[in-house]
Amino acid sequence: MSESTTILYETPTPLVARIVLNRVESRNAQDTHLLYELNDAFDRAAQDDAIRVIILAANGPHFSSGHDLRETGHLENLMAHRRVGTWCGISCGGAEPIMAREKELFQGLCERWQAIPKPTIAQVQGRCVSGGLMLVWPCDLVMASDDAQFQDNTLDMGIGGVEYFAHPWELGPRKAKELLFTSDWLTAAEAHRLGMVNHVVPRAELEAATLALAERIARKSIFALKLAKEAVNGAMSAQGRKIAMDHAFGLHQLAHSHNMQVHGVPVDPAFFAHGPLRKPG
Ligand code: ZN
Repeated sequence: MSESTTILYETPTPLVARIVLNRVESRNAQDTHLLYELNDAFDRAAQDDAIRVIILAANGPHFSSGHDLRETGHLENLMAHRRVGTWCGISCGGAEPIMAREKELFQGLCERWQAIPKPTIAQVQGRCVSGGLMLVWPCDLVMASDDAQFQDNTLDMGIGGVEYFAHPWELGPRKAKELLFTSDWLTAAEAHRLGMVNHVVPRAELEAATLALAERIARKSIFALKLAKEAVNGAMSAQGRKIAMDHAFGLHQLAHSHNMQVHGVPVDPAFFAHGPLRKPG
């Protein structure tokens, strides 16, 4: 594995891998390069049989400001990497290149990480915006500091929700709609009450508390852990999670196409008048 420029890979104990977003200057905004380096790190932890639990953390004051809306040359950047999915059409016309890119880079990678057999724990501080949710939600457990805040502001972009549309499973249908309709911030305490977050701890204790939980889990039978995870994921499959999320992904692509027809760009340009990181409410 070549040296990563945006991701740190640590082993704080022999059984636990900690993958750290390390693009602090952009509040861990996710560009194509970061997402592939993150995928490489998940692969490394998944394929190392000595590792039993994977923590996903982030350096800096905020977990992630979401997708990097300043990135240019999206399709060229995608073609510069070895793709991990089989969806094609990057060089085709019409609506297909955007859909193909988001199938690969957003929905595809999130589903891939959600299916890693080992337990994964997201360790979240500060703000976690839109695409940031797509790093947290595929994880099995979520530890948050008391200053953590979550937001999906894609409505402000003329889109009905992020590409990995797990909102109803994470929050329940009614709060999912409120999060989407208002683009308001969800506090760590509220996310905990709704069951989206497992535990909320003081910011200074977040790393130690997350590692302590990972170490407790890592002492269990790794095969039994995999079976337990598979069983819970299977229950969500039985509820139709994937097909519902595929449906929402199609609507997301419709929004991109609509914005292209109306505005000539896939995101409503009015969004940029406010800036991608709105102040906490
Ligand atoms: Zn999109």
